[in-house]
Amino acid sequence: MDVPKPECLKKNVNVPNKLLMGPGPSNCPPRVLKALSQPILGHMHPETFQIMDDIKEGLKYIFQTNNTLTLALSCSGHGGMEAVMCNLIEEGDTILIAKNGIWGQRAEDMANRCGATVKTIDTELGDNFSLARIQNAIQSVKPKVFFIVQGESSTGVYQPLEGIGDICHRYNCLLAVDTVASLGAVPLLVDQWNIDAIYTGSQKVLGVPPGITPISFSSRAQKIIFSRKTPVQIYYLDITQIGQQWNCFEGPRIYHHTVSSSLLVALREGLALVVEEGLEELMKRHRDCAKRLYDGLEKLGLEPFVEEVHKRLPTVTTIKVPDGVNWLDVVGYAIKHFNLELSGGLGPTANKVFRIGLMGYNAKPENVDKVLKVLQGGLQKSKNNKC
Ligand code: PMP
Repeated sequence: MDVPKPECLKKNVNVPNKLLMGPGPSNCPPRVLKALSQPILGHMHPETFQIMDDIKEGLKYIFQTNNTLTLALSCSGHGGMEAVMCNLIEEGDTILIAKNGIWGQRAEDMANRCGATVKTIDTELGDNFSLARIQNAIQSVKPKVFFIVQGESSTGVYQPLEGIGDICHRYNCLLAVDTVASLGAVPLLVDQWNIDAIYTGSQKVLGVPPGITPISFSSRAQKIIFSRKTPVQIYYLDITQIGQQWNCFEGPRIYHHTVSSSLLVALREGLALVVEEGLEELMKRHRDCAKRLYDGLEKLGLEPFVEEVHKRLPTVTTIKVPDGVNWLDVVGYAIKHFNLELSGGLGPTANKVFRIGLMGYNAKPENVDKVLKVLQGGLQKSKNNKC
């Protein structure tokens, strides 16, 4: 053997306990961390099937849907986006994408890779889309799928969804929505709002580690997937097979891939916590924390990137980096002195904003106050150039 044992692996790993107040992941609640240390189960064991069934019920609650094709994918949020694209799109299909930040850009990239004809609509950064704008675009493009992001975490913009599904269905189009950064903090009624494909992240409001992505398809979408002329391009994300593993269809469960029992148990615990608190309370907690943050920012003389309050995403607040401040100084100060993660911009907002996350277990008034205090200290240090 030419490759020696690596020296680094002879030392113990060091995992510091940071307060994660960026756009995600957020800290897991202690109950979720405890769930992660449970014994491993086989992916075809009856106990695992029961956990998967419980998760499906929890996901139906958080999505507010009765879709039978509701499950969790073994991947992070990007996998949810990719699954929507590769299951709904066949080569030559037209998709319309609402693009007002990095997640619309990523969706465009993925749809192109699936061989779609991709059309986009965009807005000024920091703005969302009106129903009239969406209706005009759908009417003229006549896409098979319309894709939109409910919580654009790169810009901190919230996109209301009510009414979009009705427009889509009027023009025989499927509605696909990314709720990775928003679910649990803002209203979402998948069935009532006629949403055909929806996914979220585990590591944001749900407070579960990344790597397990809830997703759901309407019966309308399901019919279209099952009548494809070509197989789903990505075997690993083929929902016709994964749905069979999750017992969403008639017939016995199949082995498609080895689902992580640890992540299943953690997701079940995260969902149990949401059920205990209730969605209404959970949303209220996020709204209240966001309001406390906005008030505090105003007192500090900081300017939110999204001007209109009703267009702000409660989970991810974007703040303009003031003149004379290097955002890296502030973020560095927070982590160095307080083990506190704050974040800079991403994609189109890179170098322009700070991003503060208030999600799930971390959405507490004391964390808001801590962030404000550290932000104030960091800004002062950066101005004095003494970080
Ligand atoms: N969509 C949105 C809105 C997100 O905020 C993120 C993650 N920040 C993703 C998709 C991608 O998720 P992941 O990093 O878990 O793959």
